[in-house]
Amino acid sequence: MSRRIAIFDTTLRDGEQSPGASMNAEEKLVIARQLIRLGVDVIEAGFPVFSPGEFRAVQEIGQLAGDSCVVCAMARTTKQDIDAAAEALKTAKRPRINLGIGVSQVHLTQKLGMSEDECLACISEMVAYAKGLVPDVQFYAEDAGRANRDFLVRAVQAAVDAGATVIDLADTTGYCLPDEWAAAMRAVVEGVRGIENVTLSVHAHNDLGMATANTIAGVRAGATQVECTINGLGERAGNAALEEVVMAIAVHGELLDAHTDIKTTELMRASRLVSRITGMSVQSNKAVVGTNAFAHSPGVHQDGVLKAPEIYEIMDPAEVGAVGSEVILSARSGRAALSSRLSDLGYEFEDAEFEDVYQLFLEMADQKKEVYDEDLESIIQERERDVTAVYTLNALQIQCGDPLVPTAVATITDEVGVKHVVSATGTGPVDASYKAIDRVVAVHGDLTEFAVKAITRGIDAIGEVVVRVTADDGMVYVGRGSDNDIIVSAAKAYVNAINRMIQTSRARNGR
Ligand code: MN
Repeated sequence: MSRRIAIFDTTLRDGEQSPGASMNAEEKLVIARQLIRLGVDVIEAGFPVFSPGEFRAVQEIGQLAGDSCVVCAMARTTKQDIDAAAEALKTAKRPRINLGIGVSQVHLTQKLGMSEDECLACISEMVAYAKGLVPDVQFYAEDAGRANRDFLVRAVQAAVDAGATVIDLADTTGYCLPDEWAAAMRAVVEGVRGIENVTLSVHAHNDLGMATANTIAGVRAGATQVECTINGLGERAGNAALEEVVMAIAVHGELLDAHTDIKTTELMRASRLVSRITGMSVQSNKAVVGTNAFAHSPGVHQDGVLKAPEIYEIMDPAEVGAVGSEVILSARSGRAALSSRLSDLGYEFEDAEFEDVYQLFLEMADQKKEVYDEDLESIIQERERDVTAVYTLNALQIQCGDPLVPTAVATITDEVGVKHVVSATGTGPVDASYKAIDRVVAVHGDLTEFAVKAITRGIDAIGEVVVRVTADDGMVYVGRGSDNDIIVSAAKAYVNAINRMIQTSRARNGR
């Protein structure tokens, strides 16, 4: 049997640090559910000391995961961080603290102001401290890619000696080339006493487009845990993409002497879900999960694929869940058909909730004849947005055209239930409706990105609008809205972004 590679997913921690990709606790839970379906071995759920919202997300994911996977919380090398992580992980059956410190010269001198010996002492003390709280302690060596090799070995030795169960080497800045990175990892494998008794892990970033290559180089150098995110989300250019790493191991399992236990047919759904929730769209030529990943242009290639798919395909699209089921629902589909489709898609509802979803489904089926899986997902997400809203857009009336002055009249309910009717004119219908909304909401943000796309095919497709709103403090918030009318979608998306801005600031302040 080949080596089993554990998949450590950090979409909810490193991925969530992507500018604009912040998620609330409810959204994190929705993604966590899909990660569990996917069969990941570890979910890094957050950084508890950072905010009460992060703390709660780790607690809830711990509860949700049960026995199905390890739930991990991040900490820096301070007792306060480690205490918060241990406390948040109390709900988890299989808790792990992931703590670490920078080990490169630039981190030691510029960031930490520590000598090498002070750093080693800190590692020994903090790993031992964490070990006293939780048995499973992972040590991450930040910026290992630019660290002095000898010091890297000594730092890892200190962590192993103090009882770390997992050693994660991080090329935090995405600096290394694959062979250079593999050499750093081998230096640790060869130089650290007792390394064979711990799990070796690799954490690569994509600043030079080499995250997946470096992760696979790490596996070849001896790593049996890989850290990655759905769609390669993460700080700056992102982390190694889970779907790429998993499929590279699947395609080259023999050569790598490795396999994972990921249910690959769930990859596409995971990708779509994360893209929707974070508002970070997936480029069409993205490996494995892009819309073009298995598309062949007419002519020679198409002809080849028809003769034998393996001529141009190294993976079967069905294996990654890229072949959408063609189950189409309509207004004539009853409750049983909807319920069975929803459970195939992984959604379970209580009776009252289901009735609510069924009514929304009927409304949609009235407006468009064919309801696809993506439409169902948009109904559910739209409903989840309503449940957590501070402000709700009840109605929007627009007048526009040439030579009319674009005018919007909006009805908005605030969280105490007061209805506001407001109107404004603008340079276009979207501008007018946003100005009307601004008259009610108590916060300010600048619209920095606006994108509209059809969720499914056909002229009657649901239009989804994604906006990015930048708050006065520079934080970016993504808002989404979907409707048959794209101006209504645009207004819903803006209200959604405003709601997230308010909820995030409340979570920070502990409310
Ligand atoms: Mn990282």
